[in-house]
Amino acid sequence: MWDVLWRRSRPSPATGENRRALHTVRSQGCLSSRPVILKALFGLALLVLFPFPLARAESTWPMQPGIFNSSEKPYRLSREKLTRLSASLERVTGWRGIHFEHDAWLCLKEARLTTTGSPTARAIILKALQETILILEDHSRSLDVAFAAIRREATLQMASGAYLPVFSLRVDFEDFRHLRGHSEALAAFDLGLVLLHELVHAAFDRRDPPGPRGTSDPGECEALVNEVRMELDLPLRTHYHSEHVIPSLLSDLSFGRLRFERVTWREGKPRRAIYFVQWPKPFVSH
Ligand SMILES: [Zn+2]
Repeated sequence: MWDVLWRRSRPSPATGENRRALHTVRSQGCLSSRPVILKALFGLALLVLFPFPLARAESTWPMQPGIFNSSEKPYRLSREKLTRLSASLERVTGWRGIHFEHDAWLCLKEARLTTTGSPTARAIILKALQETILILEDHSRSLDVAFAAIRREATLQMASGAYLPVFSLRVDFEDFRHLRGHSEALAAFDLGLVLLHELVHAAFDRRDPPGPRGTSDPGECEALVNEVRMELDLPLRTHYHSEHVIPSLLSDLSFGRLRFERVTWREGKPRRAIYFVQWPKPFVSH
């Protein structure tokens, strides 16, 4: 049984130390008595099958699928931020009663469906809840995270023998305070929709468009999030990379900008409506 406030003894996920620690768990758990050559061959096979650190049940990650609050104090989301997140997910899914049980894990036990919300958003969240172990981390005022980012940390073997991927989902809540723009674009770039983008990475293994393609292509993740926007009657994101805007030659401040569009009808004729959301670049790093 997994403890509510499980202790994760790993160091920072970005360090090689973490990877070594997980490899140690692996070798202590199942390989220590094997001959060296067999260990090497087995290790190679694991690397091919699972290009991320593979940990067994002895590790300190939660040993069940779900969306969890970080147990590490510097990254743990406050109750206020968990409430913001739940409220935003309620808006996009149409489920009322989404909450974080004991401020620790996302719980749908009391969720009830209303007449609003997006079926696609509900499907994304259910898949992430059932097929991944996702750790939410608060990276507000981070220089490395613009709005939100996800990183695959490990692959865990469950008691059943099944393997589940572990992700850290880092959210910079402060970045959202700097957003300005049309109300339609602000609604289309809401916290919950940004979170869904990251969940699509984890649950559907989709990627963002590489290089310059992202200036005109929203990418595989946003294609699915755009379906959510369509179901919510919101404008659709037209590109992945933000545009770089300098208001005037004399301006010291530059802005990142995203464009959203939808077709509206006026006097029987289609019209493309364009909406922008933007933020001052120095305040939203990346
Ligand atoms: Zn992405």
